[in-house]
Amino acid sequence: MMEKIVSLCKRRGFIFQGSEIYGGLSGIWDYGPLGVELKKNIKELWWKSVVYQRTDIYGLDSAILMHPRVWKASGHLENFVDEWVDCKGCKKRFKVEEVERERCPECGGELTCSRHFNLMFKTSSPGAVEDEQNLFLRPETAQGIFVNFANILDTFHPKLPFGIAQIGKAFRNEITTRNFTFRTREFEQMEIEYFTKPEDAERWYEYWIKERLDWYIRWGIRKENLRVRTHQKEELAHYAQACADIEYKFPFGWKELEGIANRQDFDLREHSKESEEDLRYFDEKRNISLFPYIIEPSAGVERSLLAFLVDAYHEEEIKGRKRVVLRLHKALAPVKVAILPLLRNRKEVVEMAKRVRDLLLGDFVLRYDDTASIGKLYRRQDEIGTPYCITVDVQSLEDRKVTVRERDTMLQERVSIDQVKEYLQERLKC
Ligand code: ATP
Repeated sequence: MMEKIVSLCKRRGFIFQGSEIYGGLSGIWDYGPLGVELKKNIKELWWKSVVYQRTDIYGLDSAILMHPRVWKASGHLENFVDEWVDCKGCKKRFKVEEVERERCPECGGELTCSRHFNLMFKTSSPGAVEDEQNLFLRPETAQGIFVNFANILDTFHPKLPFGIAQIGKAFRNEITTRNFTFRTREFEQMEIEYFTKPEDAERWYEYWIKERLDWYIRWGIRKENLRVRTHQKEELAHYAQACADIEYKFPFGWKELEGIANRQDFDLREHSKESEEDLRYFDEKRNISLFPYIIEPSAGVERSLLAFLVDAYHEEEIKGRKRVVLRLHKALAPVKVAILPLLRNRKEVVEMAKRVRDLLLGDFVLRYDDTASIGKLYRRQDEIGTPYCITVDVQSLEDRKVTVRERDTMLQERVSIDQVKEYLQERLKC
């Protein structure tokens, strides 16, 4: 199953190996013309649901490079480490948590002693003043939110509970990067830090688990392929009181898509100490200053993308022939409309198809294709999840109508060219 997805992604321009002409760079992937659309759609749907459709969450775009003291205060310098072992036989490397017994999970060979490793990417700025020379690429976007907490308080004066949301790149020096794009060294996160009164934190923690689970279902992931896994006490990060993962049933097993953590007041308290800035919130009603508790839903863009792809992938048999169809939600589909002339050798038909294309250009992400027979053109669009295909035929020259074919049902309808834009807008609305 994964081989089919990987091959489709490459063949059709979703995902390419990073720096492929130089032999690739492990754990690094580039997103092609279709991948970039799918990624953009995921981010937009997330942003819409957490920022535009609510009144209590503010957007932010903080820098990837942050003051080195941020990572001291956050605990990353000390605690953001992984432990790994190598197999003496097959030379493969594993995270300690991946190895159940003291033998290599792949070949059963003997393992080396474990070694520690900080996951942050170090970089430097030799021209900077001394304490700003040793920089790190951020391993999560969350810290950018905490260091801007006071700015949001001062500029927008929000009342608890409220949140700050951000989408952005994060970098981790992952020891192993198996399973296609699941674990990579450069990726994007979609994070919310939701600030609450300490006594309300538990309730908001439960609320965000449900809210985020519903978001995946709303945009097409089948319920039975999602589950919530609550962390055991010994699994919890140093700052967390509780944590739950939303997991997806990938072909390589149940794996985390998103983590929702109750971080208590750890972050604001630590940054207050380290920066000597008072990051408390003033509760006017009770006339007290307090460190809010923080609930953090933290999702990965590429991991959701992979889950959406895997879940949408279907193979079926139509009249004895195999059809591969990506049943992506229309809002996620990278191309919304394809325009296909039925007869590519009839000049008038091709010209009319191009006029229909120009009529719709700018209003939809669309593709025009006249490079194969109609059966093949449909198959190409099904495989990338295009919800609507428009064909122009000889009849169209007379009645100025086109055929619109719907991806999942394959039902066809004749629609007047004058009305086709509204027809599609209506159906693609969500
Ligand atoms: P894992 O246990 O899989 O390493 P994590 O618990 O370290 O993940 P978090 O720190 O909770 O992950 O990050 C939040 C989200 O960011 C994850 O749920 C995941 O979707 C995404 N993410 C984290 N690390 C990576 C990575 N190396 N590649 C792709 N996405 C990632």
